[in-house]
Amino acid sequence: MSIADNLRAVRASCGQARLIAVSKTRSSDEIAAAIAAGQRIFGENRVQEAQAKFPELRARHGELELHLIGPLQTNKARDAVELFDVIQTLDRPRLADALKDAMDKTGKRPRLYIEVNIGREAQKAGCAPEDVAAFLADCRAKGLEISGLMCIPPHEADPRPYFEQLRDMAGALGLPHISMGMSADYDIAAACGATEVRVGTAIFGERNYNPSR
Ligand SMILES: *Cc1c(COP(=O)(O)O)cnc(C)c1O
Repeated sequence: MSIADNLRAVRASCGQARLIAVSKTRSSDEIAAAIAAGQRIFGENRVQEAQAKFPELRARHGELELHLIGPLQTNKARDAVELFDVIQTLDRPRLADALKDAMDKTGKRPRLYIEVNIGREAQKAGCAPEDVAAFLADCRAKGLEISGLMCIPPHEADPRPYFEQLRDMAGALGLPHISMGMSADYDIAAACGATEVRVGTAIFGERNYNPSR
């Protein structure tokens, strides 16, 4: 199966959700193949890796919508604000401060989502579910506009209850964007109300193992 074939298959089963092609670890040639097949929305985990690929891809292929879906350090906030259209991993007050500062200095205003640690897992990033409403209020008080929620449910659990919880939380808070679902479960996420699914392996094939990603 080619990248174009895989994209067709994934698009056929993600319903109304917008498809974010997760291109971490992929070469610019692989990303260009996806662009040639009509894909314009991409997700990357690391600021530096995205900086190495996307300015040139944008220069060559025109406008591409780029989402940051990996953890963001405060010292990379400015680089992230300059490069990404959407930052999905806002999860703590310090980062909110750094993003506000970077947005004021650069004049760029990427869309921001709060990452929710929906399974309350100790090793995972994200704001605890019970803290999301207060953190959202804190962000707004700082002058940041928040437009969505993102989550990564616990590995190997049935993701459905977690997807439903995130959807209900976004609904209760009046946030229009709901980013959830990966290669193993994007169809389920879409059925549960995801507005965006993040799919890498099912489009580009298996990633080479790298413990740091
Ligand atoms: C890597 C990654 C994905 C895509 O994972 P696949 O299983 O390859 O589809 C989605 N979301 C996040 C946050 C990721 O880090």
